[in-house]
Amino acid sequence: MSALPKFNAYINGKFEASTSGQYFETFNPYTAKIWAEVAHCTADDANHAVQAAWTAFTTGEWPKLTATARGALVHKLGDLIRDSARELAEIEVRDNGKLINEMLGQCNYIPNWYWYYGGLADKIEGSVIPIDKAEVFNYTRHEPLGVVACITPWNSPLLLLSFKLAAALAAGNTVVIKPSEFTSVSTLKLMELVEKAGFPPGVVNVITGFGAEVGSALVEHPRVAKVCFTGGTESGALVYQAAAKGLKGCTLELGGKSPNIVFDDAALDDAVKGAISGIFAATGQTCIAGSRLLVQDSIYDEFVGKLVNFAKSARMGDPMDPGTQVGPVTTPPQYEKILKYIAVAKAEGAQCLLGGGPANTPECGDSKWFVQPTIFGGVTNQMRIAQEEVFGPVLSIIRFKTDDEAIDIANDIAFGLAAGVWTQSIKRAIKVSNAIRAGTIWVNTYRAVSYMSPFGGYKKSGLGRENGIEGMREFLQTKSVWISTAADVPNPFVMR
Ligand code: NDP
Repeated sequence: MSALPKFNAYINGKFEASTSGQYFETFNPYTAKIWAEVAHCTADDANHAVQAAWTAFTTGEWPKLTATARGALVHKLGDLIRDSARELAEIEVRDNGKLINEMLGQCNYIPNWYWYYGGLADKIEGSVIPIDKAEVFNYTRHEPLGVVACITPWNSPLLLLSFKLAAALAAGNTVVIKPSEFTSVSTLKLMELVEKAGFPPGVVNVITGFGAEVGSALVEHPRVAKVCFTGGTESGALVYQAAAKGLKGCTLELGGKSPNIVFDDAALDDAVKGAISGIFAATGQTCIAGSRLLVQDSIYDEFVGKLVNFAKSARMGDPMDPGTQVGPVTTPPQYEKILKYIAVAKAEGAQCLLGGGPANTPECGDSKWFVQPTIFGGVTNQMRIAQEEVFGPVLSIIRFKTDDEAIDIANDIAFGLAAGVWTQSIKRAIKVSNAIRAGTIWVNTYRAVSYMSPFGGYKKSGLGRENGIEGMREFLQTKSVWISTAADVPNPFVMR
């Protein structure tokens, strides 16, 4: 029998093995060793979890709670996450290989989602409409949707879950979560805190397993009212199609190929740091990676020289070591995909200025999944390396001459998740920010997110918004209530 720790699904307030009795293995990307086993859930488990969530939505304690009491539970979950931040961060690093500094920063910041939405729970007010009809009282209520399915990827499991979970619960929904098969453990650990916070059984459930099997069963379940998905554009399209068949709402946070634009009046040393954080932080495995660096012709050589020098000093190594700056790639398929794109860029004629292959220095330990920080110059926007999401530490640099040309290149792409603009001119900053078709624009900064500010994509980068008050609206539906105060019912054959 395996001595590895086993993690079970969480359904109706209980940690349980799947109905299949099977488990799948989860790897530590730095040691390339299996460190735990996770319940391999099936469509039957998805059904049980959704039934539990539906029962919790319609009966028992949860629907009877006042918005204030519900908000207090969500807030308490935030407190418990704060107290467990280090443990959760270490699990994330073990499962996805991201840096301890980054994951600890995330886990310390995540409680804010629960505090913010917990506070918002009792501030969502309907309105009384001064309706254009005599003797009628009309008002609106904002009501929860029902059972919400949350499907998350492997790159920032708890952060991207919290974008969804905190708002969905504060709005009064119940939830079934399907984490990525590569990074399920932190979400299951979070369920210990959900239980400790005192959520009634069935309000939050987790089923673990594979997207095509248990993820799709969840999306297709007739009791699921809404699907919130973060992941790749192809899987997102499949999820959207399946949700459409059941006429379900969908929030989709998908891929990106974000332009990071450096103008000739930028503070160049700051812009170098912005470019580095856009692509090498998190080993480039973030949807908001600034993977297309647009540099103005007049500063191109100077800027690229500084950038390559800075990138050369990036320290690869054990992600648990606080001194490490670039960790391993999270999964073997992702590692293969990155190397494939490096080969494509070389074949397309892009000029490799740094890296360009696997990394296997002693600091990379036993991991087989390190890729050198890689920079390609001389990229044109038509090349695949400029158009397709790599999701790794591979930067494409494109040269431009004028502001209009930069805007055209920035927008000439199927994605629209984010963009960076580096300039000291406020006029230029506003003009370019308004012209770029993307959901987030950073000026003289990069890779900033907050629970307060809406996040989501234009074009193929997604649908709907997470975070902020807009993020809460995604989990509510509006009911209009009409009360007649008239003495009698008028002519029944005429619309009132
Ligand atoms: P995937 O799209 O492969 O998977 C995301 C999640 O969806 C996983 O839990 C996966 O399960 C599940 N899934 C896959 N197929 C289906 C399906 N048919 N029905 C239901 N669920 C399904 O993405 P990755 O996990 O590989 O994550 C990387 C991608 O996520 C990148 O392309 C990146 O751009 C995107 N991303 C977007 C973000 C954003 O906010 N816009 C943020 C972070 C990442 P399983 O893995 O178990 O098969």
